[in-house]
Amino acid sequence: MEFVYKKSLGQNFLKDENITSKIANLSEIDKDTLVIEIGPGAGSLSKKIIPLSGYTILYEIDTRLKETLNEALKQYDNYEIIFDDFLEQDITDIREKYNYQKIYVVANLPYYITTPIITKVMNEIYPDKIVIMIQEEVADRLSASYGSRDYGMISVLLGSRYDIKKLFKVSRKCFIPEPNVDSAVICLNKNNKLGNTPVDKFEILIKDAFQFKRKNLKNNLKKYDLEKINEILQKDNYSLNNRAEDIPVEVFIEIAKKI
Ligand code: SAM
Repeated sequence: MEFVYKKSLGQNFLKDENITSKIANLSEIDKDTLVIEIGPGAGSLSKKIIPLSGYTILYEIDTRLKETLNEALKQYDNYEIIFDDFLEQDITDIREKYNYQKIYVVANLPYYITTPIITKVMNEIYPDKIVIMIQEEVADRLSASYGSRDYGMISVLLGSRYDIKKLFKVSRKCFIPEPNVDSAVICLNKNNKLGNTPVDKFEILIKDAFQFKRKNLKNNLKKYDLEKINEILQKDNYSLNNRAEDIPVEVFIEIAKKI
């Protein structure tokens, strides 16, 4: 029987093998790597990832794909599939439990939960590398640098823990069924910019700084010690009259450390 794609699960499967090979190769997976793939679908990307990896864990919510996936991956033995909602999984102990040198997340994500997935993996595993295909517009926002129109709260929150690069664009024509947006593959490489700055404190500062997009820092950060913040900003040639979108990640980190 023909597979009925569920739009509600973000089911747009990749049909172009050149793209799946390119994603797997650019991920630079090796036998010391534990890979996590979220949403393997019919296994087109999994087939390329699993043979490169030490071990791969796949999370797929749609149990109708059991037979297809088992068949597509039957020649490999270094993987397991968890048929469940990834967002409901306890993944906090994966690093200790599997004990690989590196953990990568590689996936063509279901677009309706892009941000919750990134947030979950970042907070619960902090993988060494994340290579994901997402909607192009979101890719531009995540990888934006300060001063650009797309630079926002999410760019700073991610940028404090990862160096983010847009790798390549993927036309909507490469999927079945064809979505109404183009996609892009981005690569996030762990950096340690945030160091031991408390994550909660940093996140609250960034949320406040970007709270009203049109307001400057003086207005958005009223409840903080403005004199101290101004001192830090001036050192880097910024001022309280700048908007959050003008300020590099490193300067925000410095502020979070000192307030
Ligand atoms: N990796 C396949 C490919 O590239 O052809 C499929 C990608 S498709 C964009 C997204 C996949 O994520 C679908 O197979 C869908 O069933 C699955 N999915 C959706 N929500 C999920 C969730 N909460 N947890 C795990 N998998 C999910």
